[in-house]
Amino acid sequence: MNLILLGPPGAGKGTQAQRLVQSHGLVQLSTGDMLRAEVRSGSALGRRVKEVMESGALVSDDIVIQAIEARIAGPEAANGVILDGFPRTVPQAQALDAMLQRHGRKLDHVILMEVDEPALVDRLAGRFSCRNCGAAYHERNHRLQKEGVCDNCGGTDFVHRPDDRPETVTKRLEVYRRDTAPILPYYRDRGILRSINGMGEMDDVAQAIEGILRG
Ligand code: AMP
Repeated sequence: MNLILLGPPGAGKGTQAQRLVQSHGLVQLSTGDMLRAEVRSGSALGRRVKEVMESGALVSDDIVIQAIEARIAGPEAANGVILDGFPRTVPQAQALDAMLQRHGRKLDHVILMEVDEPALVDRLAGRFSCRNCGAAYHERNHRLQKEGVCDNCGGTDFVHRPDDRPETVTKRLEVYRRDTAPILPYYRDRGILRSINGMGEMDDVAQAIEGILRG
């Protein structure tokens, strides 16, 4: 089963993708995570994309398409993938179709997580993640069970993303509306787009997704 989680930054795509990894044994392919790993590696490419990411703009289609294809072609993707943060433009959606076809795979579901945009700035400003395992938390909505200790791996070092600053979030939302929203009709016309309310409790959102996957 291959699926896309779509929605603006802060919709909860990463959180729900992590749950699906646990519950369905799917592989999460997050272009944002791949790009952040590239930045951490300090490579020439990483240095180039760091600036773009911190400005809230999109990295070029070629770079993310290549990164995704390398993973979709691999054996770990055979059981199915959850695409989180990809595609973000119509050319990326078209490239995805072509590569799935090349590798004999197909897209089963595209799930749009609908959220109240004004609430997103607040949601993103409060989020942080474990530096060690990447588990995502929020200062109010998803707190650590034990202060200062990651529930998942016991790590004690946490990071706030530099692009979650309110001014950058505003830019990322503009980019979403301008460049990413046009892919919705692309999938709607094929009858595989389903929408869910992404504003509820995490468990309710997860249940709504499960309902779609069960068909
Ligand atoms: P995310 O973690 O998905 O919110 O992505 C963080 C940032 O990485 C985005 O604001 C973009 O700068 C870049 N990025 C992630 N995925 C893509 C993509 N599919 N296309 C272009 N840029 C991307």
